[in-house]
Amino acid sequence: MEIIIAENSGLCYGVKRALRIAKQTRADKSEKVYTLGDLIHNPQVIADLEKHGIHSAKDLNKINNGTVIIRSHGVSPQIYDFLTNKNINIVDATCPIVKKIQRLVSNLSKKEEEIIIVGNKEHPEIKGLIGYSQGKGVIIENEAQARKLPQKRKRAVLVQSTQNIHLFQRTVNILSARTEKLDIHNTICQSTQTRQKSTSELASQVDVLFIIGGKNSSNTHTLYKISKKVLTNTYFIEKANQITPEMLKGASKIGLSGGASTPPKAIKEAVVKIKSSLKYQFHREKTVKCLN
Ligand code: SF4
Repeated sequence: MEIIIAENSGLCYGVKRALRIAKQTRADKSEKVYTLGDLIHNPQVIADLEKHGIHSAKDLNKINNGTVIIRSHGVSPQIYDFLTNKNINIVDATCPIVKKIQRLVSNLSKKEEEIIIVGNKEHPEIKGLIGYSQGKGVIIENEAQARKLPQKRKRAVLVQSTQNIHLFQRTVNILSARTEKLDIHNTICQSTQTRQKSTSELASQVDVLFIIGGKNSSNTHTLYKISKKVLTNTYFIEKANQITPEMLKGASKIGLSGGASTPPKAIKEAVVKIKSSLKYQFHREKTVKCLN
């Protein structure tokens, strides 16, 4: 039996950095410390942060003092203004890659009539990005919405940093037929692209594949969809104890992958659970890298 872990599974650079900043802020400040929404899309990590005095605030209007940490997804300029006007201290943990996309949207808004942003309209990164578009941003979640767009002489297109690369490519094809001059920016971050590619490759090599992560994590859902397309025996689990003997039945190669907000502990626990479920079998563990 072989347990194979996809390359780049688990916490990405931006989320690790935000967690580090949050812990440092908690250590430095005596006042209340909040994160604006969940710092990462993982209920176990959020519960742990809460225990250490880092509170996840869902409603900005309820915060009247203390420090607010902006999470890796970033926020719109309007949110910075709102917090500043309320005299609330801001610690900015926006991922530098997301910051770069925000700057891109801001620059495009000066020269483009329309900026198409491919992504989930409820995702915090998208809600933040649209705020930099000077009212020129249009969110497209799927190909059907792209097909409804009118013909235009000129427009730009970019994408949520954790989106499915195939959805972006298909959307760009649709837009190319509707736009005379399409300015294309693939803003999916490298870490996401590697994770998606290695998960897809792994799905074609194993008998069963577990995608581990919070059900509210959009990038983990994307990984699940990518893997499920290749391998029917793909399971989306939040915790190791959801792995059952039936899921492992007859499997000699077992794959694991996790989203950008899946802590390494969750992946290790899944490995332990699989090993203990199949304790009489020989096992080998490795991490695979993407093929080029
Ligand atoms: S997925 Fe990429 S862009 Fe998003 S927070 Fe992580 S490193 Fe940054």
